[in-house]
Amino acid sequence: MTAARHQAALIERLREKGIGNEAVLQAILETPRHRFVSDAVARHAYRDDALPIGYDQTISQPYVVAFMTQALLEAGSPRIVLEIGTGSGYQSAVLAKLVKRVYSIERIPQLHRQSSQRLRELGIHNVSTRLGDGSQGWPERAPYEAIMLTAASPAPPEALLEQLSEGGRLLIPEGAPHEAQTLVRYARTVGGITREELLDVLFVPLVPQAG
Ligand code: SAM
Repeated sequence: MTAARHQAALIERLREKGIGNEAVLQAILETPRHRFVSDAVARHAYRDDALPIGYDQTISQPYVVAFMTQALLEAGSPRIVLEIGTGSGYQSAVLAKLVKRVYSIERIPQLHRQSSQRLRELGIHNVSTRLGDGSQGWPERAPYEAIMLTAASPAPPEALLEQLSEGGRLLIPEGAPHEAQTLVRYARTVGGITREELLDVLFVPLVPQAG
């Protein structure tokens, strides 16, 4: 099969698994996942699997990327999204096709460098990346209409909830590292913060900066 056919087969799989947002499916179809992984695993890029990206980290499973993107867009169309855990840059690239601007933070210098370069090479200019501890957020650009954590934490970091605009939502894989986790959507409303459990997931842990 050619890469295009593998890509089309992946989109069919995502549809079968319940992803119905056509804009999200189109963004995934147009994002060359094989460019976000090493040559050693590129032949598996269009399987619906998480893959290693080095430094004990992973590029998320396409279904989870699609599900999270769809869940973030469901309650309206955010113009600005903050992502915590740039990793390979793949989720940022998918979001970049759907929103005006993406801010993304990564704590591992090599992944930050590689993903920033990759996004530039692919001509994706509406993603701003930063090296640092994402649990502190990116206060200079706040508030955000949407925040997506792609690393697991027992609870949303307080700083991130504070950087959410009114009507904004935050998605987080909630739970202890390497144990059953739940994807949870928080929303800031006039009445306070609401919480909604969406999906069982398994993510690498969010590692806050020591000290
Ligand atoms: N979204 C990524 C992609 O599309 O490839 C996958 C992210 S991977 C599952 C989780 C990422 O979160 C890793 O790259 C990890 O280094 C990063 N991470 C963990 N703790 C972090 C923190 N406190 N701040 C920023 N990034 C963090």
